[in-house]
Amino acid sequence: MRTKQDYINGLSKMKRNVYFDGQLIDRTDELQMDCLNTIGLTYDEAEKPENADLMTAVSHLTGERINRFTHIHQSTDDLHKKQDMTRMLCQKVGGCIQRCMGIDASNAIYNVSYEADKIKPGETSYHENFKKWLIRFQKEDLIGCCAQTDVKGDRMLRPFQQPNPGSYLRIKERLKDGIVVEGCKVHISEASVADEVLVTPTRALLKDDKDWAVSFAVPGDWEGLKQVVTIHNLRPREHFKRGVTQGATDSYMIFENCFVPWERVFLAGETMLGGAMALLFALFHRHSYSGCKPAIGDLILGTAALAAEANNIHKAEHVRAKLAELIMTTELGYAAGYTASDLGKPELYIPGHGFVPFGPGSFIPHSIYCNVGRCLTGEAVWREAEIVCDIAGGVPATFPHEKDFLNPDTGEQLLKYTKRSPKMSAEDQAQLWRMIGDSLCSASGGIAKVGGYHGGGSPIMEQIAITTQYDIESRKKLVRYIAGMSGGDREALSRNIPAKK
Ligand SMILES: Cc1cc2nc3c(=O)[nH]c(=O)nc-3n(C[C@H](O)[C@H](O)[C@H](O)COP(=O)(O)OP(=O)(O)OC[C@H]3O[C@@H](n4cnc5c(N)ncnc54)[C@H](O)[C@@H]3O)c2cc1C
Repeated sequence: MRTKQDYINGLSKMKRNVYFDGQLIDRTDELQMDCLNTIGLTYDEAEKPENADLMTAVSHLTGERINRFTHIHQSTDDLHKKQDMTRMLCQKVGGCIQRCMGIDASNAIYNVSYEADKIKPGETSYHENFKKWLIRFQKEDLIGCCAQTDVKGDRMLRPFQQPNPGSYLRIKERLKDGIVVEGCKVHISEASVADEVLVTPTRALLKDDKDWAVSFAVPGDWEGLKQVVTIHNLRPREHFKRGVTQGATDSYMIFENCFVPWERVFLAGETMLGGAMALLFALFHRHSYSGCKPAIGDLILGTAALAAEANNIHKAEHVRAKLAELIMTTELGYAAGYTASDLGKPELYIPGHGFVPFGPGSFIPHSIYCNVGRCLTGEAVWREAEIVCDIAGGVPATFPHEKDFLNPDTGEQLLKYTKRSPKMSAEDQAQLWRMIGDSLCSASGGIAKVGGYHGGGSPIMEQIAITTQYDIESRKKLVRYIAGMSGGDREALSRNIPAKK
């Protein structure tokens, strides 16, 4: 396994193809350091003996010990550990740990490439291609991002109907030794600091969408790929530093005349499985949210509770009710992910068929619980911010800048007037308002909330998954029976409770 420094050294050798605000930048540019330090913790923590069980696993392909972020889930225990590892790391970095896209895309492609090879046996070797890629990914302990979301053009048109065919990334040309792709993937988290880019389709596809059913992996600096990055750093602090400073990036990834050799291609034209891959990445990613969102909930709860103490209102009834609400959302999100892990199987829900065996035997979390948890916690991001805003009052929005606290003309007075509760020092109260300002009133704080809401799929996508996969008909039959209507069935549901194997 690599160290954080090995990871950074690797990035420093990559070709410059990342643009920021009109300039080409190095991947190790100072602007990206908060982000690198955040991801770097996944290396630092994996080295600690006490974290070995949670943060490392044994590769089912090589038998070697690997970082869990490169692992394919072999059991429900692996799913539980991925959820708990994510929660633990997000707590420590004070936000998103930013390494889950690689593990989630790897698990999706691993399963789908296996099924895709069954369509024309002997003609494709997607799964073998992916396994070879995966062994290197595991051995070299690489960072992968997932480029799923396309620009999508007119939302009412299918990929093949778009006036600009690159609105969804597509195969432009099929050659003897590979494919040429074009298109633009957007909002791709941590692409600017990733070693490898895993590309998957973004939606269900029709027969005419053949050229859009494409999946492959290329290094982040591959020929024919350009990135335009937005870097989400907090306002720098010179004097009153935070304990932890989290950073993140998202890229537009422009693929033009980009050649991908066959050995790096994992799907090329199988439309049904293109849709399945989109669904499966989203599913694994929503399972990751059942680890990260509870961690964010832990942080929001701590923030709200401290703000209440600073204001000396922590015993007020409305504060208790709001803290309880934060805990309920956090732990229901965690419980949904826990159940999704516990009921995980090598099965996928296929509309019209129900749960069917899928992939070569690796474990997929239960879809309903992943979607329920992700939707509940995703929609809650604005409410959680509202609670912190309510309890904190207006100070985080107007708190004076650092140097006003250092200026002899104003510093002492500002500190004196910062003090509210006598039980917390004025200096600590000032640090708390600064941190709440970072989260509620900064550009990065806003971006994190939009990411928390839309990342992994907007709530509407989870609602579609839940209502199309949930057995509503059985509930109707049960109620028909209870109401004394025709067509009732008292046992309709007892046959359907998702039993643990
Ligand atoms: C901070 C951040 C990080 C992200 N990281 C990643 C990442 O690492 N990798 C990745 O692949 N993606 C990433 N995403 C993308 C994320 O998954 C998408 O934002 C999300 O799926 C919504 O897609 P969209 O942004 O294109 O919105 P749209 O699909 O444009 O949605 C906008 C609105 O239009 C509605 N709509 C869309 N289509 C239709 C239709 N046909 N009929 C009716 N209504 C429709 C939607 O319901 C929604 O209300 C990230 C997003 C953010 C904000």
